[in-house]
Amino acid sequence: MDKIRVLDKEFVPFLAEETIDLRISSLAEQINIDYAGKAPIFIAVLNGSFIFASDLFKKVTVAAQISFIKLASYKGTTSTGNVITAIGLEESLKGKDVILVEDIIDTGKTLSEFIPQLLLQAPASLRIASLLTKPDALKYDVKADYVGFEIPNKFVVGYGLDYDGYGRNIPSLYQLA
Ligand code: 5GP
Ligand code: MG
Repeated sequence: MDKIRVLDKEFVPFLAEETIDLRISSLAEQINIDYAGKAPIFIAVLNGSFIFASDLFKKVTVAAQISFIKLASYKGTTSTGNVITAIGLEESLKGKDVILVEDIIDTGKTLSEFIPQLLLQAPASLRIASLLTKPDALKYDVKADYVGFEIPNKFVVGYGLDYDGYGRNIPSLYQLA
């Protein structure tokens, strides 16, 4: 594998397709054990997680549902700053076993603001699956239960993750050169 260019930036190979695939298989295996006899609903956060969510979901063998949301941030009317809302969440999560699927947890800000809102719906349980986490960038109290890879604090593209809207269709992960 060679380096690639997305818009004005160069990226070097980081995680190969097969490496990602193997890791997702073991995450799914763990989920299949943890949710045996249950029927979880996966809530995938668009856009970044769509490929991860799809690949993970195909390997899940317990009865399961999936739904897709977008998180939109807007300036709150109070001094507390931004408010995160979920677009596309039609079903009630009350009493359900929810698995929130993210592409990457960076500072943890997005999820730290969104999770309390999800919990207001009183799901039976809530766990987080994130393809990537950047432990060195984490600033908020968010912890994923299923983590694909802990990665260094460097910008990555591919496998659903974008740089300025491009690069999502690259089948493997690349890191800023
Ligand atoms: P957080 O709220 O955890 O700081 O940010 C999470 C969001 O920032 C991710 O869902 C993703 O959209 C974006 N992000 C953080 N790090 C990266 C990265 O290395 N590459 C890409 N493509 N997006 C990132
Ligand atoms: Mg995201």
